[in-house]
Amino acid sequence: MSDQKTLSLIKPDAVERNLVGKIIDIFETNGIVIEKIKKVHVSNEFAKKFYDVHKDKPFFKELCSYLSSGPIIAMVLKGENVIKKNRDLMGATNPKDAKEGTIRQKFAISIDKNSVHGSDSEENASKEISLFFS
Ligand code: UDP
Ligand code: MG
Repeated sequence: MSDQKTLSLIKPDAVERNLVGKIIDIFETNGIVIEKIKKVHVSNEFAKKFYDVHKDKPFFKELCSYLSSGPIIAMVLKGENVIKKNRDLMGATNPKDAKEGTIRQKFAISIDKNSVHGSDSEENASKEISLFFS
C-alpha cells in the first residue's frame, strides 16, 4: 500500500506545557515519519480559514481564537494509512471519551484544549497541508 500524508497540529495548550517531544515520540514510535515540521503562531484570520468546515458550529469563534492564542507545531506526517493511524493515536475529541494511551487521554485538558489536530480524510489532508505548507 502506498504512503499517505496527513496534517498534524500540536495545539497551544500542549506547546505551552512543553509536550512537543512527548507527542512526536508517540508518532515516531508508531512508525510515522515527520516529513515537514514548523513552529508558527497563526492569525485569527488564518484559523478561520483552517476551520472553515466548522464555521456554523456554536464553538467556531472560540475555536479560532484558541488556535491563534499561541505558538503551535504544524507537521506533515507520512506513512501507510497515516490519516487513520494518526486519528487513532490522537483519541476522541473529548479527552473524557479518549481511550487509554491515546494522546488526548494522556495530555488533553478539555474538549477545546485537546492538544492535537489531525486531518480526517484524504481531501481535508491535502487542503490542510497546502494551507500550512505552500
Ligand atoms: N471543539 C470544541 N467543542 C466541541 C467540539 C469541538 O471546542 O464541542 C473543538 C475541538 O478543539 C476540536 C475542534 O473543535 O478538536 C474540531 O472539532 P472536530 O469535531 O473536527 O474534532 P477533531 O477532528 O479535532 O477530533
Ligand atoms: Mg476534525
